[in-house]
Amino acid sequence: MSSSNGHSFSGLSAARHEAIAATTVSGWKQRHHENGHGANGSQSGIQRVDSIYGADVFSQKVMRQRLPKEVYKRLMETIHKGKTIDPQIADIVAAAMKDWAIENGATHYTHWFQPLTGLTAEKHDAMLVPDATGGVLFDFSGKALVQGEPDASSFPSGGLRATFEARGYTAWDPTSPAFLNRSEGSVTLCIPTAFVSWTGEALDKKTPLLRSMEAISEQAMRILKLFGTDRGVSRVLTTLGPEQEYFLVDNNFYHARPDLVVCNRTLFGAKPPKGQQLEDHYFGSIPARVMAFMSEVERECYRVGIPLKTRHNEVAPGQYEFAPIFETTNVACDHQMLLMETLRRVAPKFGLQCILHEKPFAGINGSGKHNNWSISTDTGVNLLDPLDETHTNLQFLVFVCAVIRAVDSHADLLRASVASAANDHRLGANEAPPAIISIFLGDMLTDIMAQIETGAFKRTLKGGDLDLGTRTLPLLPRDSGDRNRTSPFAFTGNKFEFRAVGSSATSAWPNTVLNTILAESLDHVATRLEKAVGRSPSETRLQAAVKALLKQIVKQHKRVIFNGDGYSEAWHAEAERRGLPNLRDTVEALPALKSKKAVDLFKKYKVLSKPETESRAYILMERFVKEVAIEAETMVTIARTMILPAALEYQTRLAEAVSAADKAGVDVDDQKECLEKYVALIAALRAATDEVDRAAEHHEEDPFKHGQQIRRDLRPAMTELRKVADELETVIPVSLWPLPSYRELLFIK
Ligand code: ADP
Ligand code: MG
Repeated sequence: MSSSNGHSFSGLSAARHEAIAATTVSGWKQRHHENGHGANGSQSGIQRVDSIYGADVFSQKVMRQRLPKEVYKRLMETIHKGKTIDPQIADIVAAAMKDWAIENGATHYTHWFQPLTGLTAEKHDAMLVPDATGGVLFDFSGKALVQGEPDASSFPSGGLRATFEARGYTAWDPTSPAFLNRSEGSVTLCIPTAFVSWTGEALDKKTPLLRSMEAISEQAMRILKLFGTDRGVSRVLTTLGPEQEYFLVDNNFYHARPDLVVCNRTLFGAKPPKGQQLEDHYFGSIPARVMAFMSEVERECYRVGIPLKTRHNEVAPGQYEFAPIFETTNVACDHQMLLMETLRRVAPKFGLQCILHEKPFAGINGSGKHNNWSISTDTGVNLLDPLDETHTNLQFLVFVCAVIRAVDSHADLLRASVASAANDHRLGANEAPPAIISIFLGDMLTDIMAQIETGAFKRTLKGGDLDLGTRTLPLLPRDSGDRNRTSPFAFTGNKFEFRAVGSSATSAWPNTVLNTILAESLDHVATRLEKAVGRSPSETRLQAAVKALLKQIVKQHKRVIFNGDGYSEAWHAEAERRGLPNLRDTVEALPALKSKKAVDLFKKYKVLSKPETESRAYILMERFVKEVAIEAETMVTIARTMILPAALEYQTRLAEAVSAADKAGVDVDDQKECLEKYVALIAALRAATDEVDRAAEHHEEDPFKHGQQIRRDLRPAMTELRKVADELETVIPVSLWPLPSYRELLFIK
């Protein structure tokens, strides 16, 4: 039916109908073919993965084949040992890269970078130039490879760059491989780059990450030297394996929800009768359409060398996850950005939309990006591997205690590193890692920490075997501790998992912070140990010094260790007793980033200068303010132009029904009461809408002050508006309700 106020609900019903039809396997397959996407998902279209893996990467293998031996060797020194690149070498590399790209169909190249918008940016240049005789030739010089100059004036700089001096430079990062980006009918050579201002200030997420990796390497090498384990090691790296959670919703429903389209999350939506109570989605069988989507994502990722490893259903209905094999943090962060782009780009081919927002739906789980993080030598030794007899593995204990010290000393900064308007709805809600930063160590390490405190290094708890009670199943070695899913920062066997990172965030920034705080902690440890053991450390002196220092660290920082249920009320009270910060939202968390402590830390380890740190805090806060303002505006528009008209339409029908019944001589007291209650609900909707509108009309120069107002007035007003609207959704007929429901968004696959 069509409503009298000019809003066509019939269009929506058609969309609903189409979406439901499309979810049948034959439905999307048919559409897929009609759209000319070929036979994906059918047997004939399947290519062997090993034939495409890395096909679009200018990899070490390709370089070895195409570069003169000496040039290849020098380039590897840059990549693996951090040596500066020589311009002559750059010319030769550029020529080889150009030939390779052109042979693979490329016409353009781009310096691919990560500005402070949180997205990636690219400006394409053709490699073609007229040859002055009427033809063209391909040109791509070493200079074009090494340096670019996009107009920087439209990217956020937080005051770092005056607009009259809008120059920004991109600089080639040879440690992250170039790749080809394929889209319908075009191939572009993408060169990962850092983005800096004319004066050398970082305007991106990659530059500080690379600097933080330098910092951690320098400090960690000092520890290895003390233990004599630095032989053959030129640098220490961090490794990252980010797990990516996401939602998929049907394209038609998505487009019928302005809130999803504009804000990537639902601003309204009554709880469906079935949420995730049955816990039947997690690790369940993957729906056919989703499976087809996942395979295509994998193929696209494999082409550019993203080593995706696992795929599965997540806890919430409509929620899924991909996880890669871990890589050097810098490369993993680039791959993580590419994965997010690929997810978004591929979904519509299957009639889906991929939602990366941290909390797209109220009342069910949100999405995170579990940041699996470890420290390793460039020879491949994982420095967070406890080995079998952990209590004797002093070097490992030094690294673990340094992590504990770092996380406790900089819990506020770590919390700030994951703060965003979107993540606010997830952290601290009762199904996501809480905003209180604590560390889960598990039984074995907790037991060793207790031993360190008493000075007795006696034993390593073992898990033993798990007897499954049947003869046909093998005995499984049991881990020495169970998993804990409620901790924001958990030791998981040979790495730490920072779970508070949001699903839509870039990995680069939280890892920059992690690396920097650990660099500081390792510096602290190395300085004390070097002092204690002198120039020629003997084994016994080193052992005594390590034991004494670790004892001190455990005593001072054990308050951050918590193995219990991080979601419980009791923990909140306990954390407060322990003096741990509980920064509940972005407004409370972000000031830590511009504190003197943080500014000094980044400056000391040459990760960010004072203006660079302050500008980042400013940009993040400004983004928070803008995002919530857009949400508020979208809410008001939906309430006024979609919900209220539908509500009034139903009011008319109710009133007509009452009046007709009255005329027929029926007792209508009860119906009248219903109508009156309903009319009151509409009045509440109007009032709540006006209140959001009013609270959103706030202007303030300083985003930090504006954030306070948002926290105090705007967000509570938005919560109230949603409450009233969601109540209306439960009484207004489905045929009149203008938005696809949670049931449709989440359960139609
Ligand atoms: P879980 O049992 O927590 O699911 P997995 O071993 O399956 O752990 O790994 C989850 C993620 O952790 C994967 O992306 C994996 O690549 C990553 N990972 C494993 N080892 C490391 C490491 N040493 N450094 C960084 N990430 C790692
Ligand atoms: Mg997970």
